[in-house]
Parts: sequence; C-alpha cells; structure tokens
Amino acid sequence: METSWSLHLLSEILSAFSTEDPDNLRNVVNRVAESVDAEVAAILCEGQISWCIGLSETDQIQLLEQAKQQPSNIPIRSGDLHACWAPLGSSDVLFVGRLGERFDLEERALLRAMARSIELSMNMLRAVTSERQARNDAYQQATHDALTGLPNRRMVLDHLKATIDHLVADEALVTAVLFIDIDRFKWINDAHGHAAGDQLLIHISRILTDSVRHEDLVGRLSGDEFIVITQLGDRHATNELARRIIETIRQPIRVFGSELSHTVSIGISFVQPGDDPSVVLENADMAMYRAKALGRGRYANFHSSMRVLAQQRLSLEENLGHAADNGEIRTYLQPLFRLSDNTLAGFETLIRWQHPQHGILPPGSFLNQAEDSGLIQEMDMIVFETGCSAIAKWQQIPGLEHLRLSSNLSAHSLADPRTKERIKAILETTGINSCNVYLEITETALVEDIKSTASNIIALRNLNLRLAIDDFGTGYSSLLYLKRFPVALLKIDRSFVDGLGLNPEDDVIATTIISLARALELEVVAEGVENENQLDLIRELGSDYGQGYLFGQPMSIGDTERCFISPRRPHPAVHTTP
Ligand code: C2E
Ligand code: CA
Ligand code: CA
Repeated sequence: METSWSLHLLSEILSAFSTEDPDNLRNVVNRVAESVDAEVAAILCEGQISWCIGLSETDQIQLLEQAKQQPSNIPIRSGDLHACWAPLGSSDVLFVGRLGERFDLEERALLRAMARSIELSMNMLRAVTSERQARNDAYQQATHDALTGLPNRRMVLDHLKATIDHLVADEALVTAVLFIDIDRFKWINDAHGHAAGDQLLIHISRILTDSVRHEDLVGRLSGDEFIVITQLGDRHATNELARRIIETIRQPIRVFGSELSHTVSIGISFVQPGDDPSVVLENADMAMYRAKALGRGRYANFHSSMRVLAQQRLSLEENLGHAADNGEIRTYLQPLFRLSDNTLAGFETLIRWQHPQHGILPPGSFLNQAEDSGLIQEMDMIVFETGCSAIAKWQQIPGLEHLRLSSNLSAHSLADPRTKERIKAILETTGINSCNVYLEITETALVEDIKSTASNIIALRNLNLRLAIDDFGTGYSSLLYLKRFPVALLKIDRSFVDGLGLNPEDDVIATTIISLARALELEVVAEGVENENQLDLIRELGSDYGQGYLFGQPMSIGDTERCFISPRRPHPAVHTTP
C-alpha cells in the first residue's frame, strides 16, 4: 500500500467533510472501501446501521451484536465476517468489512489512522454544525413566531421592504398585504381556554400557508393578527384570495372536544413602489378594522379616508378602558308598544357611551372594541342594572305593574359563567319582577358556541326571566334552537320591517316569522317601525308588539320618565319624539 494512495484518500476524506455535509460520510466510506478493495462498508449510528453496502440482513444483525460488545479500534471476527472498525465520536462507528485475512497489519493500521482522521473531521463538523444550529436557532427565534413557526413582525417587515425595493412602476403583478385578524379571539380564549386558542392559531396559520403560493409570505404579527404578502394578477384576484381564506377559516373545527366556530376579518392594502413598509401594514390594519365595523367575517380594501377614522378609533380605544370606571356608560330606553290596544308595554335598554370629548356615542362606534377587549360583560351588566332599577321603580306606579324590560346580552356575557350570578344579584337588589325581564340574544350568539352557552342559558332561564331572539332572520339559527332553548319571544329584524309593503321578499319573511312564532307559541316584536304604513302591515300580519322611531326614539332614563311615565296619560299609539 503506497503512501501517496493513503494521503490522497485522507485529503479526499477531509475535503469531503469540509463541505460540512454529514451525508458525505457515506461517500467517504465508499471511497475507503473501494480503495482497499473491501466488499462491505457500513456506518453505525447510535447502535443502528444507518447505511451499508454488501451486507445481508443476517450479517447486519450479527454486526450490530458484535459492535455492541467490542471495545474500540480492534478488528472483529464473526464466522466468515472479518471486519475493521473505528469509533467516530461517542456513538457513530465507521465500519469497513469482509476484508478478513486479505488485510495485513499495515493496512489495518492505515485504516485505523484514517478512521481517526475521519473522527477528527467529524468532531470538527459537529462543532461547526452545532454552532451553525445555535446561530440558526437564534435567527429563527428572532425572526419567527414560536407557536406557529411563521415569520414574525420583524421578518414580515424585512420581507415587505425587500418586496417593495424590487417593485417597478409598470409591474405586471399587483402586490398586496392582507391583514388578517380573528374575530372575537379574546372571547374564544376566555370561553375555551388558552390552549384551545393556541390550537386555533395554529389551525389558521396552516390554512393561510395552504391558501397562498410558495413565493408568498405568511407571517404572524402578534396575538391573533396574521399577514399575507402576495403578488397576483390583479386586485380582483387578491380580493378573491381574501374571500377564499375567509370561507375556509369559517368552517368550524373541533378542539379538545368542543366545536369552535370562528371568523376572520381581512384588510387589504395594495403596495406601490417606494411605499414605507410600516405604513403599508398600518393601512392594511385600518382596512381590517373597516371589515370588522362592517360586521366581521369579511374583507375591506384600504382607502385613505380610513386614516382619519383610525385616529379616532385609537383615542377611542384608550378611553374605552376607563369608560365603565368613570361612570360614562349610559342606559337609554326605547319604548315597546302592544299593538292590540296601543299601550306602552315596556322598554328595551340600549347602551350609550358619554364620551368626555365626543359626547353621546352609539353602540356601533365602540361595541366591537368592547367585545374584543373583554369590556363588554361589565358594560352589559351596568346597562342591565340601571335598566332594572328604573323599571322596578316604575312598576310601583299603579297601572304600570306590567312594564317589561328587555336588555341585550352579548355573546361574551352569555358564555361567561359569572353572568348568571350577577344577573341574579341585580334582580334581587333592584326588586324588579323577573317575569317581566327579557334578555335579548342574537341568533349568532346563541348558536356560536352551543356547548359553553347551553348550560348558561338554562341557568338564566331558571332565574325565571325570559329569553328573546334578537335580529331574528339575520342569523343562522334553526327551528331546532328555538325548540331546544326556552325562548319566549322573537324580534323581527329591522331590515325586514323596512321593506314591508315595498319588497315582496320582506313581506314573505315577516309573514313566515310571525306564523312560525304563532306555531311555537312565541311572542313577536317587530323592530324598526318608522311609519304608519309599516305599523298597519305588522299589525295585519299579527305581530304582538312594535318598536321603532314611530313609537319613540331611544332616550335617557330621565327623558323617558318625562315622556312616558310622569304624564301618566293614556299613551297614544304614536308618540311624538322630543
Ligand atoms: P338592537 O338590539 O337590534 O337594537 C335596536 C337598534 O335599532 C338600536 O340601535 C335602535 O336605536 C335602533 N332603532 C330602533 N328603532 C329604530 C327605527 O325605527 N329605525 C332605525 N333606523 N333604527 C331603530 P342602537 O341603539 O344603535 O344599538 C345597536 C345595537 O347595539 C343593538 O341592536 C344591540 O345589538 C347593540 N346593543 C345596544 N345596547 C347594548 C347593550 O347594552 N349590550 C349589548 N351587548 N349590545 C347592545
Ligand atoms: Ca336588542
Ligand atoms: Ca334587534
């Protein structure tokens, strides 16, 4: 055996390892086996044969047995199998075999020497790889989100910057940023626990990754906010992608035995050359808020007018946290009239926020934020309590004992197990007759999370109050729910009353709801009655009660008392609003 040969082989081994590719070990072993005319070569890794050539299965088992027992660096002999092997590090063994008697002492010494250099190289390789791994880990941590493994805000911004830098003015493709936010995520977390919330985040991250092409980027900004950066043929295709994502995510999933129904809202901002990446993200965020304000589970494209709205929203959000503590939550009341004899039947409570700068704000401008931030339960209870106090007082007036109170309960309050105790306490302290208390729940709240709400609904019903389904006809509830839950009343949504006598479809819907209510022995309220024509029609169709601007606008408790209670005169069917 010539020195030049062994030197050549050694240099080959080292160069093979210098590529830092562990797979090269196989090539090296192959080369060694070839050079010494061996019929068999194998690599053992952690007690298992990870690669081998020229060994039957029986031989392999035997070899493993031998390798376990043998001290390092000596030839093993088993039957007709003669081998020379060397340890590589603590667990890897290089095996070059069936050389038997054809190997002389010198050759064996050379093989061992090579094995040692391989070992040295392997150790170096390990050191390099583990350092590189550590570097990769640190990079991964700094640029990726631990839960979903998606790029984080930093990497999203870097990627967006690189994308914008490469944009040219007459780009054939349209570059867009989709800002995706889970609707009512806080509520899902509260109702099902954080582990379920995490599962949902992972689930959504997968859907997003599957919905886009390999070149697109999906990232997680924070909490329940995801980003997609994509390049598609035109704006229509981008909107279509958003729509598809929304529809796919809308499918309920099972997590820890409960079914989670959830939606996302998406804001889309289209990117131009020279744009600032942070501003693009902000724009997409604003568009997302617009999508939420439009009713969630939908998408909206950014428009510059949204900037003004976003500024207002920010300051609104800051103040909303203190609104309840500062006593800024107000309860407005809207009257409800019985249609059979045109008498005042009671009131619905409607929340208002007495904002320190902007004055009285309607629920549409802050309820979404209150729901997302978990403030809504507190607000629901404040409104319920003030409403109960007022009505309880008026029930003392002879002739008004029958006055009923109807109060809105958000999905959050419904799912919150503390709600029942709080309502019970309020009923007791205000002394209101609970038979005259209705809790209005929207269809969506009712069916959204049937598992966690069902027992709460029964518990509420056991307090002797009544349940009403609000905005009936707009949600997804089925007859099944009406039967399953102790519902006492349906409120026909304003949108159907609006089109009565004008839109035949609305006529059909209103008629159907009323006959359905009749069949199930439920009371019916027609909401949003604004004119005499609508009043005539709902009366004709057989609605029990009417509510709307025609009877009275929502107003403060003081104004309500002045208009409807103090005069104690027979109530006109149509009340002129103050
Ligand atoms: P809702 O429960 O369907 O309440 C009826 C809404 O229709 C009220 O809007 C009311 O002012 C309005 N309205 C009543 N009559 C008419 C009419 O003739 N024409 C028109 N165009 N509108 C009419 P508001 O007060 O802005 O409340 C909006 C929604 O906010 C409510 O819809 C309810 O879902 C929610 N909300 C109100 N108060 C509370 C509350 O205390 N807690 C919760 N969770 N939600 C509340
Ligand atoms: Ca209502
Ligand atoms: Ca309603």
